[in-house]
Amino acid sequence: MIGVIGDKELFSGDEIKKCYTLEELAGSALRCRRCGLRKGCRGVVFGKGNPQAGLMFIGEGPGAEEDKQGLPFVGAAGQLLDKIIAAAGYSPSDVYIANIVKCRPPGNRAPGREEADACRPWLIRQIELINPAVIVLLGSVALQHMVDPNGRITKMRGQWIEKEGIEWMSTYHPAALLRDETKKRPVWEDIKKVRDRYNEIVKSI
Ligand code: SF4
Repeated sequence: MIGVIGDKELFSGDEIKKCYTLEELAGSALRCRRCGLRKGCRGVVFGKGNPQAGLMFIGEGPGAEEDKQGLPFVGAAGQLLDKIIAAAGYSPSDVYIANIVKCRPPGNRAPGREEADACRPWLIRQIELINPAVIVLLGSVALQHMVDPNGRITKMRGQWIEKEGIEWMSTYHPAALLRDETKKRPVWEDIKKVRDRYNEIVKSI
């Protein structure tokens, strides 16, 4: 049962948990009005990639191009992420990519705490249904909303965190690399760790 107030669909956390497939979850999320971000964007950007991927990437929120196409990471930062994923030896269909918030924050600002909290049940259920072994958090917004509210990306990037049966690694957001080339090397070091650990996990299964 979906909570409806006027034209708003306010899914409760319990309603979101009762979506048992990724398709069902995406279908519901597309109608979400749990926070004000939905008013200012074209549509909900749910995620893309392999629904059974063992490796998942989580960014911040959709930008203008993502909002236009309805897919995450399709702009310049997304193209760079594709290159990083390819350099690690994976194809786009080996991974799943999503964001902390599924609607574009106006002016590409960072999502606020209330917006991220409102969107969190969608992402949590998305993670549960995909069930990845490794999650890479892209940038400080993803780090702070998923691992440590006070975490600093400069200090915590490249470190493994184990939580709820998943291994988490944070690194700089690809958009940060576009602004500052010196971040490319540390990101590559982090991604090599991810690749090595993920390949180890796959071999051990
Ligand atoms: S950002 Fe998330 S919680 Fe807010 S309206 Fe969009 S899908 Fe719903």
